[in-house]
Amino acid sequence: MWKITKEFHFEYGHRVWNQDLVEEFSGCSINSCRHLHGHSGKILVTLEGEELKNGMIFDFKNLDFIKKFIDESLDHKFILDINDPMCDLLSLKLNQDYYYIRKQGYKIINLDNPVYSGIPDIYKEYYASFVLVDFVPTSENICKWLYDIIQNRLKDTGIKVYSVKFYETVKSSSEYIG
Ligand code: ZN
Repeated sequence: MWKITKEFHFEYGHRVWNQDLVEEFSGCSINSCRHLHGHSGKILVTLEGEELKNGMIFDFKNLDFIKKFIDESLDHKFILDINDPMCDLLSLKLNQDYYYIRKQGYKIINLDNPVYSGIPDIYKEYYASFVLVDFVPTSENICKWLYDIIQNRLKDTGIKVYSVKFYETVKSSSEYIG
């Protein structure tokens, strides 16, 4: 069995609106992850294969689509759960009243829609900062979400994603093994 791993980085914001710390273990009663805050995220994508083709499981360069996706869809965005009780307020009702583009497991605003033509740029920039998801953006959920997106993109290649490991901070990570 062979495995290869490639690393990607992005900055993002979120809030874990349902955080419920256990003071006995955390030593703290303030659910600070409910605050709006940001992280420097890092993901490690690992592919596995039984055999090599041209000496490779998959060319590392072929994984640049992940960087492209992250740069365009995630980097410097705020990952907002549509179930967050503050979603409407934070997104200025982006979720309900405006058109958006639905992607795999998330949606983003469609600024090409004529409905936005008269809106000042300052609002467009604000709307463009959100990635709306249907899950609480914990480390674990972001990890599984990215795994599914990457595996789906590779489905016609026969390449298997072994795992995605997601570092929310340098000290805290989660890993999903498919
Ligand atoms: Zn956080």
